[in-house]
Amino acid sequence: MNKRYTWLEEEYDSLQKQSLAREWNTVESASDRAGTWIQVEGKPLLNLSSNNYLGLAHDQRIVEAGKLAAEEWGAGGTASRLVHGNYALYDELEQQLAAWKEREAALVFANGYQANTGVIAALAGRGDAVFSDRLNHASIVDGIVLSRAEHFRYRHNDMEHLEFLLKKHQDARRKWIVTDSIFSMDGDKAPLHELVQLRDRYDTMLMVDEAHAGGVRGEEGQGLCHELGIAGKVDVLMGTFSKAFGVYGAYVCADEIIIRYLMTKARSLVYSTALPPAVIGSNLAALSLVQTDSWRRKAVRQNALMFRQLLRSRGFTVDEEDTPIIPLTLGENEWTLQFSKRLRQRGIAAVAIRPPTVPAGTARIRFTVMAAHTREELKWACEQVSVIRDELQKGGTIS
Ligand SMILES: *Cc1c(COP(=O)(O)O)cnc(C)c1O
Repeated sequence: MNKRYTWLEEEYDSLQKQSLAREWNTVESASDRAGTWIQVEGKPLLNLSSNNYLGLAHDQRIVEAGKLAAEEWGAGGTASRLVHGNYALYDELEQQLAAWKEREAALVFANGYQANTGVIAALAGRGDAVFSDRLNHASIVDGIVLSRAEHFRYRHNDMEHLEFLLKKHQDARRKWIVTDSIFSMDGDKAPLHELVQLRDRYDTMLMVDEAHAGGVRGEEGQGLCHELGIAGKVDVLMGTFSKAFGVYGAYVCADEIIIRYLMTKARSLVYSTALPPAVIGSNLAALSLVQTDSWRRKAVRQNALMFRQLLRSRGFTVDEEDTPIIPLTLGENEWTLQFSKRLRQRGIAAVAIRPPTVPAGTARIRFTVMAAHTREELKWACEQVSVIRDELQKGGTIS
């Protein structure tokens, strides 16, 4: 080992001792039954860890649309959109997004991480205040850090705490409230009606990240803000193509002046190459299917309710929710890792989520259900979860 890196050896050792070092598996095959089964180390696993909620990642119409776009426009984006990477496909996708979201304009970003960092850093700056839920996605946190605005974290979904902070910092130059609509590691929802009220009362702007709600909620999959009828009261609606859409990329929808400003000021957009045409082609096809295939939305919701109920019937504590993200909080990193390993031995893919992705002491198994999971599969999975709990309880590992 090179002596220059001794410090890294030590740091990494320490992460390993706390069960915080991360590893990944190689998926050798993913296309079985809409991706509900994957193969890892030669073994088939029921996939309860995918964000491909609607099963669209393997839809042949979406795959074909990507192939056609690549054949017509080439493999790469070739330049930033502000140079000559702005193919006509992009304009078409943005027009359709704006119409779907019932907003004046839309802007596509390379991914959700770049959308959040780019948008927040462009719209907030020194002297501004950003109020952000403590459990917001890391890309929101990073966007706030990049913006150099003051960062106020309010307790998760705690509107009293948020109001207290809004009052206290009323003098900030401009104020933003930012929240996930469905929280990525907890599967619960933000109190969006109350957030809109606070936005109006304290004259702030509101940005909502619909990464886990896009495709899954709302009449045509527009997200939770549409389902609740408050989309017109949200200043910036952000969403991704990487989860329920089964493809890649992200977007924001807003008034035209915001979009025009972002085209000039969002550094993650200006200084990065346009997405490959194949991705845009697939996103266009996925957007169309998301709107028309409401049966997929219904199926994923039914499966979410069913899996939650199955776990509850076996004595697990599970929120009264209807989202496809279902956490089983175990607390300790080491136990959670153990649990996840045993799930895999029994044929289930569901990973241990540990700090800093979630707060210390709340390590969990994050289950996600998909539209294509069958009742039998979910029942069988729940039995395995229950057996593992019993095994670990006997060994004194979990309470
Ligand atoms: C996944 C996720 C993102 C990042 O999106 P990518 O397209 O994967 O970069 C942003 N926000 C939330 C809430 C997410 O869950």
